[in-house]
Amino acid sequence: MIVCKFGGTSVADASAIVRAAAIIAQRRARMPVVVVSALGGATNQLVQVAEQSAGGQLIGALRAVEALRDRHLTQADILLRDDPAVLADVSGELSAMFDELAALAEALRTLGDLTPRSLDAIASLGEQLSSVLVVAAFRLHGLAADHVDAREVMITDSQFTRAEPQVDAITEAAQRVLMPIVRAGRIPVMGGFIGSAQGTGVTTTLGRGGSDYSASLVGAALQAEAIEIWTDVDGMLTADPRVVAGAQLIERIGFEEASELASFGAKVLHPNTIAPAVTRGIPVWVLNSGKPHGSGTLITFEAPRRPVTAIAGKSGVTLLKVRSPRMLLTEGFMRSLFEVFERHRTSVDVVATSEVSVSVTIDDATRLEALVVDLQTLGDVTMERNRGIVSIVGNGLSDGGSAMSRALEAIGDLRVYMLSLSSSGINLTVVVDGAQVHPAMQRLHEAFFGQGGDA
Ligand code: ASP
Ligand code: MG
Repeated sequence: MIVCKFGGTSVADASAIVRAAAIIAQRRARMPVVVVSALGGATNQLVQVAEQSAGGQLIGALRAVEALRDRHLTQADILLRDDPAVLADVSGELSAMFDELAALAEALRTLGDLTPRSLDAIASLGEQLSSVLVVAAFRLHGLAADHVDAREVMITDSQFTRAEPQVDAITEAAQRVLMPIVRAGRIPVMGGFIGSAQGTGVTTTLGRGGSDYSASLVGAALQAEAIEIWTDVDGMLTADPRVVAGAQLIERIGFEEASELASFGAKVLHPNTIAPAVTRGIPVWVLNSGKPHGSGTLITFEAPRRPVTAIAGKSGVTLLKVRSPRMLLTEGFMRSLFEVFERHRTSVDVVATSEVSVSVTIDDATRLEALVVDLQTLGDVTMERNRGIVSIVGNGLSDGGSAMSRALEAIGDLRVYMLSLSSSGINLTVVVDGAQVHPAMQRLHEAFFGQGGDA
């Protein structure tokens, strides 16, 4: 059994859905379970509808509802026109959901207040709609597909908009609901991202981008032999191809390496969302639904050891330095320092210390002012905005050899503000000027992969 997840761009319209059907047809013998996202962009539009309605802009919200209805019905018409009875059924089902959405929008206008619970009621419609449409299209393409309401399987707690999956309940439900369909030689199709609260059954969501998480949880619950994440890129690359001209596909990457890359700026699948599967030893593939025969990237717990697997970078980073003579020879200073960050719910990316100062970088500067005020109780604070981070990631980076010196040589005369090697030894991070992030990535890529240059 395998789990195949199709992201928003991979089910964005009729032709994408037909490509997905062909991908599943080829995998029929492997007993696929299908998880789909909302049609690309639909969730954003639904969230806007909710915000506009609660903000009193009902006319704009209803206009957006009709545009979404139109989009779904048009694609249904293209996909299902060969079977008018099915088309009528599915269009009716989709339309009923849009009527419900319009009613929710009006109720929100009256209430004037958007609770996380009502936001989930609306945001979850994208996957409810797409899964109904995809099932009907799959059937018309000869696949024995059955719709499964994701809320029967994805049991969560009641933290709306970021609900926590309840793994035992999900395992039980997946075995009870999905397995009989698979055993009957049929293909279950369910929406990602959405779930229902244990006990009450109220609709929840796992947080934005949550469909990968759904796929991973289902894969783990069914002990699938593999999980395929179908998206619109070839897989994970050695660098962002919009920055580095010669970026290459990574065929196989370690889970830890992928996690480091994602948190240091690589715009790829966030590996934490697939952790439930990877940590159980289930291989996860990232594949391009536009090029179904590409090799894709395989994310596994164990990966080949390489000095450098990829280079990531991000700008818009803030560097904070706290200098305090009190730090010298005292215990507990670090704790008080990091408590400040915790209190302001700001996560720290890179840390370096000297005898009397600590430097950290943060990505999210929304609570910066309050944060600095509190840090000033600990010492002198200086703040440098518009810095950037470049990370060189490889699980064999510190195995000896020359990777480290080659990296520093490649950075050359670019000014380095901070340097940090993670203790796991797989991530060398340098802090540079925000404007130098791209040149630094290009130089490093050139040094390690023989191809750099401006994309
Ligand atoms: N449709 C949801 C979102 O856009 C979940 C997903 O696509 O992963 O956030
Ligand atoms: Mg997504």
